[in-house]
Amino acid sequence: MSLNHVRPWRDIYRRKSRQIMVGNVPVGDDAPIAVQTMTNTLTTDVAATVAQVQAAAEAGADIVRVSVPDEASSKALKEIVRESPVPIVADIHFHYRRGIEAAEAGAACLRINPGNIGDEARVKEVIKAARDHNCSIRIGVNAGSLEKHLLEKYGEPCPEAMVESGLEHIRILQDNDFHEFKISVKASDVFLSAAAYQGIAEATDAPIHLGITEAGGLVSGTIKSAIGLGNLLWMGIGDTIRVSLSADPVEEVKVGFEILKSLGLRHRGVNIISCPSCARQGFDVIKTVETLERRLEHIKTPMSLSIIGCVVNGPGEALMTDVGFTGGGAGSGMVYLAGKASHKMSNEQMIDHIVEQVENKAAELDAAAEAAE
Ligand code: SF4
Repeated sequence: MSLNHVRPWRDIYRRKSRQIMVGNVPVGDDAPIAVQTMTNTLTTDVAATVAQVQAAAEAGADIVRVSVPDEASSKALKEIVRESPVPIVADIHFHYRRGIEAAEAGAACLRINPGNIGDEARVKEVIKAARDHNCSIRIGVNAGSLEKHLLEKYGEPCPEAMVESGLEHIRILQDNDFHEFKISVKASDVFLSAAAYQGIAEATDAPIHLGITEAGGLVSGTIKSAIGLGNLLWMGIGDTIRVSLSADPVEEVKVGFEILKSLGLRHRGVNIISCPSCARQGFDVIKTVETLERRLEHIKTPMSLSIIGCVVNGPGEALMTDVGFTGGGAGSGMVYLAGKASHKMSNEQMIDHIVEQVENKAAELDAAAEAAE
């Protein structure tokens, strides 16, 4: 549950799940909801892939997935794992041998797709490799690649077929006494995904990896993911998330965090509250926010900043933020610190000044957190 007991209308009761480890990252139960992304470089291009993994980790990714389509990628994976600051999940399709190789190469988790990994005997071999190398498994059901017998039984991809596919594979893992697994039931359709996730959440206590697959470009995919994942998270479903965008993985991480931040499920960096601006604005709100977002990217401490064009909403919003700026007349505005009006500042110097104030506040909060440990 989020820490909002004084405001019960903000409480989210997370579904109770088992906890597993993906490398050194706990997933499930009361662990923070992990943010994941996936590289889109050629895995065999180790330098490019490692650079992308590092950029994603810097943006806040807890776990990064890498495709392993061929044997050369399995070899490259070993080096990528060695260089990566976060646990690596190996994405396996069609070739169960790649799963075995990825476990041997040090992957923290294997994502296997029940629809295309092969028969039970092959899955058993992958399970053995995972166990031998301390690797967890994600059962990644996808509406677009369900097993033939389920499509014949149900006629089309539907929530029941997706849940049944997931449960069949859970049974194989459990029959092999393997319990370090999480599960996803993704579809590109928000309704299908949401129904399948609700079904699987009731049917198992395994941690759940959330995602709306092939969600689209930066804007459309963000909206689809925010609606699909947002509703499920609000219901308490989801232990790790990936926002799938046809965009840079760093954008996926940013969007993932923003979804979690807007539900109070995780906090990272500066939460900027800003008005859309209008004729009343005392300074250029849009340009200022764009610049501040860029200049405050390095701040990881959770804190809030309000940038409001005028006194209609400025003082009220500033009351609830760590640092605030409200536009005024004659080329200057009011700086608020800890909810209180502090001093005036000219519009020209305001950006540098706000960056400094935020950096000071972050250092203060970090020192207080360290002292409390
Ligand atoms: S806070 Fe002021 S400037 Fe911003 S949108 Fe509202 S009225 Fe306009």
